[in-house]
Amino acid sequence: MSTTAVGHCSQCDAVVNRHWRHCLVCHAELRAAPTHPQVETISEVPASLPSLQTGWRELAHMTAGLEHDDPRLSPVLSALAACEASYKAGDQSGFEHAAQRVQYVMQFAPGALVRWQGHEGHHMTVLGPAMVEHVHCSEGQLWVWTEWKGQGRWVSESIIVAIGRIDAPPLSTDIPPPRGGLA
Ligand SMILES: [Zn+2]
Repeated sequence: MSTTAVGHCSQCDAVVNRHWRHCLVCHAELRAAPTHPQVETISEVPASLPSLQTGWRELAHMTAGLEHDDPRLSPVLSALAACEASYKAGDQSGFEHAAQRVQYVMQFAPGALVRWQGHEGHHMTVLGPAMVEHVHCSEGQLWVWTEWKGQGRWVSESIIVAIGRIDAPPLSTDIPPPRGGLA
């Protein structure tokens, strides 16, 4: 019996979630005849790392609702690939770090509240919370469209300090060093 909830698409080798009907990368059908499984499970569980098996199930649960046109898909697939690389290397902390990236990226959805670093007058401060209206992904980096004090703006994840659902406390993150100035 396999409890692996995440595997590989046999057509394009992308990491896929068993809860998905199709591979979100190449759109191949994942629920195939049992004689010809389309999802190969990711290697057996090393006996020394049973917690990672739980980790995979949590990741599968977390990402079950993704669709092929979801802006979070690309960064989620990258993070799942990083999870797998750590898993194969038996690197528990690397796995957890990549799994946190998946959890963080999944917060980027319309309706979430976001706080970010920006300017107010001549001062650098934390702006928000404001409601996320749209999410966009460019070169693996997520952006959210939000309105703050009557003005719409795109906010890059590089300046986001917290994001989360309204019904949960915002997920705190480390403040990254500013890259190429602030929007
Ligand atoms: Zn595929």
